[in-house]
Amino acid sequence: MGLTERHWGMTHQQQRLLWRSGFFLLFVLAPVLDLFRFDLNENHLVFLGRPWILETQAYLNGDISSARMAWNMALRFFLPLGLVIGGGVFIAWRWGRLYCGWLCPHFSVVEIINGLMRRATGRYSIWEKKPLPVRQLDGVTVEPRRSWWIVTVLAVLFFSFLWAVVLLTYLLPPREVYGNLFSGELTRNQALFIGVATFLLTIEFSLARHLFCRFGCAIGLFQSLVWMGNRRALVVSFNRRRARLCADCDSSCEHACPMRLKPRKNKRHMFTCTQCMQCIDACDRVQGSRGEAPLLKMLQDQCALDASARDFGQRPDVPEDCYRD
Ligand code: SF4
Ligand code: SF4
Repeated sequence: MGLTERHWGMTHQQQRLLWRSGFFLLFVLAPVLDLFRFDLNENHLVFLGRPWILETQAYLNGDISSARMAWNMALRFFLPLGLVIGGGVFIAWRWGRLYCGWLCPHFSVVEIINGLMRRATGRYSIWEKKPLPVRQLDGVTVEPRRSWWIVTVLAVLFFSFLWAVVLLTYLLPPREVYGNLFSGELTRNQALFIGVATFLLTIEFSLARHLFCRFGCAIGLFQSLVWMGNRRALVVSFNRRRARLCADCDSSCEHACPMRLKPRKNKRHMFTCTQCMQCIDACDRVQGSRGEAPLLKMLQDQCALDASARDFGQRPDVPEDCYRD
């Protein structure tokens, strides 16, 4: 898989930025390029430039046989559905919420808003009681300034509007949506959809984005549940034998977590971990400045039991070299 390795000289976060930016672009352009969308006018899916139809109406009219209808259902409905669900289960089972941390266009916005809110308030969200340290031991320094509120509010509005428009292009022909938008001739329903969706997304992005990622998103919840079922799945693990090195640290790993988790805890407490590795990179910076290896590491298979089996009160026998590079 190579998730924990560095490729082409890039850090984990640079790799993530590349993956997330690419997927965000795909999310915006997929309907425009007819890669994937549902056409409400025509009442069928469009996939890779072609109509993806089951021919239900033709079957009801008696124009096609039952055998052909069954073939259509198998090939165009159950097979792709099975591939998507099967692939999703396999990835989540082995690597957890990889989609969330490395691809999801919603989580990309979550991280951008987190960063801006921290600049404006010193906190990742307005619900956090205590501000984060201005200067962290991992070298991150953020001096909060109220003026960043302007950028934060503009960013929330921009992404809410963008998301609303893009969502509409998944339902109506993008040429029609963008054409009407730029000529100021949106239909009443189109304007209503974009207006209501922008309003709801503004609330969600500004007030409830973490809540949505934790409990509101079916895709995220599904991945978490599957991941929790596999004790050997990839998980952030804490090297307890070296825990004394945390004594004079300011918990930089916790401050780095966009999901506001405590990465040194067992897997049970990390139900919504998105495998983003920001905690590991933060510890790497703290310990790297002292010439030490990080205390957090992505582990899987037998090594992962160190984080997952403890949830059940066990003291698993993990290989000695799990935490060695
Ligand atoms: S615990 Fe670490 S890997 Fe998981 S979401 Fe938080 S920072 Fe990312
Ligand atoms: S795990 Fe690393 S970053 Fe986290 S508190 Fe310990 S030393 Fe600091």
